[in-house]
Amino acid sequence: MSIRPICITGDPVLHTPALEVTVFDDSLRTLVQDMFETMDEAPGVGLAAPQVGVNLRVFVYDWDKEDGTPQRGVVINPKLELSETPSGEPEWETESEGCLSVPGERFPLKRAERATLTGVDLDQNPVRIDAEGWFARIFQHEFDHLNGTLYVDRLAEPYKTDASNVVTERGWGIPGLSWLPGEERLEG
Ligand code: ZN
Repeated sequence: MSIRPICITGDPVLHTPALEVTVFDDSLRTLVQDMFETMDEAPGVGLAAPQVGVNLRVFVYDWDKEDGTPQRGVVINPKLELSETPSGEPEWETESEGCLSVPGERFPLKRAERATLTGVDLDQNPVRIDAEGWFARIFQHEFDHLNGTLYVDRLAEPYKTDASNVVTERGWGIPGLSWLPGEERLEG
């Protein structure tokens, strides 16, 4: 197992829809193991394959539900059914999201309160999870990654402009940038 570099916004793999997994082999198993290790080291509550430069429809997650129940797993070729996304202004305190591909930043956005995730696991057994609140938000965030969408693409003003300014200031938004969890970051 190994920790893989995480692509930073601007790399085409993050902005391109990922492909369905058709081959369930050892390299897929290794990819998923590496994704768990990379997510843990980052640390993050979710990680999608495009974030480690692999354009396949796979994501992992690790989240303790509000009642303390640990939820950790992988889903391959997922589908997501959502309740309606509420309208109105997002709240900083309770609705700010971050992304390992836009490292160190947070911005708020509205998400659906409930999500039903379906797909398969590494052994092609069916996965079905009903999620609410932050757990549902994680699924929406990771599922977006598989469609080439980052959460910053969904921001409303003024956050959309703020995020775009940050990307420019940091010199992101170009192909080939990544960071390696566990290594000291250049910006400290
Ligand atoms: Zn993300």
